[in-house]
Amino acid sequence: MLKFYEARDSLEARQLVDALAAHRVEATVLGEYLSGAAGELPAINFPWVWLINNEDLVAAQGVLDGFMASRGNLPKAGPWVCEDCAAQVDAGFDICWQCGASRK
Ligand SMILES: [Zn+2]
Repeated sequence: MLKFYEARDSLEARQLVDALAAHRVEATVLGEYLSGAAGELPAINFPWVWLINNEDLVAAQGVLDGFMASRGNLPKAGPWVCEDCAAQVDAGFDICWQCGASRK
């Protein structure tokens, strides 16, 4: 078993497990029904998706990437470095702020 992905809610966890299953990656959701012990404040538990077989990690990562992309959750690309003047440019810009060179 391998802890793979912390979902935002049970629905997302289930959808990811389904997506993994479609790619023959066995996974399960743990943690969604946990609550705090008596007398304690209830803990906020996010469901975790676990891989049954650790060797599925690479395949699962690929499925996760596609899953996130389909949800529009792609992480923003990071800043890039201008090849002409080596300035660091924010991801939102395609032209170097320092020398005006376009992104290669
Ligand atoms: Zn530049």
